[in-house]
Amino acid sequence: MVEAWHRPTEAIIDLSAIKENIKLEKGLLKKPQQLFAVVKANAYGHGLIPVAFAAQAAGADGFCVAVIDEGLALRRAGITKPILILGVNPAATAPLLAANSLAVAVDSLEFLKQAAVSLHAQQLRLAVHLALDTGMSRIGFKTTDDLAAAVDFLRTHTKEFDFQGIFTHFATADAAEADYYQQQLKKFKQLLTVVDPLPTYVHVANSAASLWHQACGGNMVRFGVSMYGLNPSGHVRKLPAAFKPALSLVSELAAVREIQTGESVGYGKTYTAQQTEWIGTVPLGYADGWLRRMQGSKVLINGHSCEIVGRVCMDQIMVRLPQRLPVGTKVTLIGKDGQQQITAQQVADYAQTIHYEILCGISERVPRKYL
Ligand code: PLP
Repeated sequence: MVEAWHRPTEAIIDLSAIKENIKLEKGLLKKPQQLFAVVKANAYGHGLIPVAFAAQAAGADGFCVAVIDEGLALRRAGITKPILILGVNPAATAPLLAANSLAVAVDSLEFLKQAAVSLHAQQLRLAVHLALDTGMSRIGFKTTDDLAAAVDFLRTHTKEFDFQGIFTHFATADAAEADYYQQQLKKFKQLLTVVDPLPTYVHVANSAASLWHQACGGNMVRFGVSMYGLNPSGHVRKLPAAFKPALSLVSELAAVREIQTGESVGYGKTYTAQQTEWIGTVPLGYADGWLRRMQGSKVLINGHSCEIVGRVCMDQIMVRLPQRLPVGTKVTLIGKDGQQQITAQQVADYAQTIHYEILCGISERVPRKYL
């Protein structure tokens, strides 16, 4: 993917906000609970490597990523702390994982049996975290029998495997009601009865569980979206700490024109001026992650809230200006402009999605600039 450095559209990432958010979270944890920074999906759109180093400087004890290539990128960049790949992977990847000191989620005895052969042949040792399915129906062991068989295999293959962790993931830790969360926690505890001794890491908490269900326990938390300053529950629960959003998305007016009554804007001529109006063109579109359904939402220009008129194009949007403004005037799509602010949550509300999707969706064409 080509990054558009010669265009004024950029995501500005405040790394000090990320550091402060980690410190805030660490203050909430029960010692000796560790914090692994979740930096998958290009650190939720904030940039994998700069965020990882900022998180490390702020005291992150390790990292979680979704896929092997994200882990390899962290290692290539010089990160030496523990890295856990949260997704399950084909057994053929075991030697690559082990050779790069990447721990991996495992949810089948089959994986262990197949991986053991190549690990043994290459004299490599793979760190594994057994995933337990307590209610997500995504990955993980579901029964004590299956789990016990995997644990037994790990105990008898200590040359090939380091049984480093065991974990589950909650489906509703961010919800108002806690029944399903309680059921999952109970199931997790039941499953753990066949694991003795426990491995180094026992972990269940994402941001939401660590903030609103501290009693869930575990000795490590997988801290994701709140590290970036956002409320995992959207509007449902109140954040117990003042996490600060780290990402702003800004651009500039690339063209400005006057249109007359009856003239239309954009593909499909979905907007027609009812009077003489000033229209500004902003160089960002759905190829940058600014969804087509953002038509009709607002951006900030010179302290004014300006509507996106006409369809969002692949690379450009058009906005209705309060008056003629110079080309080069700053446009804020996410972030603060003077006293005004547009949050990722507001963008998500407008697009009828969650802020996770808005941030991860800012494409790699948009350069990330770091403060
Ligand atoms: N743990 C797992 C297994 C995940 O899949 C995720 C994110 O989706 C996280 C932790 C981090 O969650 P959050 O960003 O809500 O803190």
